[in-house]
Amino acid sequence: MVVEQEMAEVYPPTEEDLAEFLPDLNCGDCGFPSCMEFGAAVLENRTSPQKCSELSPEFGNLLASIVKLEKIPIPYNIMMEQEPCELIAVNNPDKSAPLLITSNFRETVRIMKEILEKTGTKAFLLPTQTHGYSVDNAVHERMFKAIEIWKAMQENRVAEKVERSVLVIPGLAESEKNSIRQLTRFDVLVGPVSGFLTPLFIMQNSL
Ligand code: SF4
Repeated sequence: MVVEQEMAEVYPPTEEDLAEFLPDLNCGDCGFPSCMEFGAAVLENRTSPQKCSELSPEFGNLLASIVKLEKIPIPYNIMMEQEPCELIAVNNPDKSAPLLITSNFRETVRIMKEILEKTGTKAFLLPTQTHGYSVDNAVHERMFKAIEIWKAMQENRVAEKVERSVLVIPGLAESEKNSIRQLTRFDVLVGPVSGFLTPLFIMQNSL
């Protein structure tokens, strides 16, 4: 008998997610009638980002590197494994690099680190205490808390390591934006739901 391993979602980008980063001109120059259809084709490797002349070469190359990333679901049997809440400097960032907040689920941290590393994105990644819950589950269980983000920032002396008082939370945690802003006194930007699009978010917002 074959036992199917149950797997958890890693939120690969959808065409709707990607469309948020495309020009929304629907000019058809790429050979597709709409930006959304072009985005779907890019994600399925049926065309290359460079086919849209409205995208900068840097943006196109970054998108191409995101498409190549593995997006393998996570087996449920490793859920809840925890990573220390220690600031991770990815790709030798300087003080102007963005600060990204995530959960302390080991696989979430591993995947986010890999996304940033493989796309050449400089950033500080801060896992915060969610007791091993991934971001979606942590938000659902009220474990993605402003107080834990504040604590992790204090313990890691974040204010001394980053130049700007801005942090980026995952799109899945949007509901916590105001409480995080009030407690940390940092401006809070809500990143994409799919962590795979975080490098595009950083580039688009000049972070
Ligand atoms: S060329 Fe670019 S702007 Fe025009 S439809 Fe294609 S993706 Fe959209």
